Amino acid sequence: MTVTYNFSAGPAMLPTDVMLRAQQEFINWQGQGCSVMEMSHRSKAFIEVAERATHNLRKLLAVPDDYQILFTHGGGRGQFSAVPLNLSAAGDHADHLVTGSWSKGAVSEAQNYLQADVVGGVEVVDGITQVQAQQNWKLNDKASYFHYCPNETVEGIEINTVPDTNGVPIVADMSSNILSRTIDVSKFAVIYGGAQKNIGPSGLSVVIVHNSMLDKARVETPSILNYGIIAKHDSMYNTPPTFAWYLAGLVFEWLLDLGGVAEVEKRNQAKSDLLYNAIDNNDFYANRVALQNRSRMNVPFHLANPELDALFLKESEAAGLKALKGHRIVGGMRASIYNAMPIEGVKALIEFMNDFAKRNG
Ligand SMILES: *Cc1c(COP(=O)(O)O)cnc(C)c1O
Repeated sequence: MTVTYNFSAGPAMLPTDVMLRAQQEFINWQGQGCSVMEMSHRSKAFIEVAERATHNLRKLLAVPDDYQILFTHGGGRGQFSAVPLNLSAAGDHADHLVTGSWSKGAVSEAQNYLQADVVGGVEVVDGITQVQAQQNWKLNDKASYFHYCPNETVEGIEINTVPDTNGVPIVADMSSNILSRTIDVSKFAVIYGGAQKNIGPSGLSVVIVHNSMLDKARVETPSILNYGIIAKHDSMYNTPPTFAWYLAGLVFEWLLDLGGVAEVEKRNQAKSDLLYNAIDNNDFYANRVALQNRSRMNVPFHLANPELDALFLKESEAAGLKALKGHRIVGGMRASIYNAMPIEGVKALIEFMNDFAKRNG
């Protein structure tokens, strides 16, 4: 059997070591005679799992003590509603930077709850997409918060510096780049992400929220989205997605064993540099994102001749390179290379790409 490398954008591959450990522990978790998914979330054993995961995530991202870490339902999109409900009153304004599909999705959901103003976005210069310089954004000092998506999963656009909002609380959808690089959590009011890209299985979202954002929720906020209620109950107001939480915990341990986020960031830089170089050095392929906004996690690329797309996909799949089809909005190909993707997978992809170009160029 050829080795398979899974480039899915999400749900995405998980580290092999984590999957093997979960498999070993699946039926009889730590001698309990049952699976971790078959025990009460209020049992001592599960509370230990939950606390360890929370503690390790705090350590990995150096989350300051005045922030809560919440494990909730509803994925990334759940937070598109939770953010306005928790951070604003009806009639308030929020600033939204729209750099791709996900930040656009956040606007249309927020629009149901407040006035979501699009303050800036991307521009195309000579066919290359870049995020507008911050001095061209129209920020509103009176906005309840500023929302942006530091890594657009579909378009492969990443923003490498935290915007300066002159004191307006910053909310970031880090669904597809959380834990891929070191961040200064203290610059954010809320960081959230669906788990299924860089953390664990789908159905779970992680929210890192400053204490000052815990008691502002509107009365009509559903309790399962209310940051204050979730925090007060240690993310167990209702039954949390226990198995996903456990698996996320295994991923956090795997990351710590690797050397933490700084180490995985180096690897991510190396992997993405390799792949972008391969694309740039071959006229057969193109990536149309400006250098400073190229995502380390999601690498979209086009074949010079789109008529070869179907053949590329068929042959790459047969070579064990899975899920390279680009998002339908963008077309072409997309290689998602999250933390769990080993550098060998990227090298195998490049080898295939070079060989395919030679045979079809
Ligand atoms: C995947 C993704 C989401 C949506 O996550 P769901 O769990 O499907 O709700 C939101 N934002 C970004 C940036 C994503 O990549």
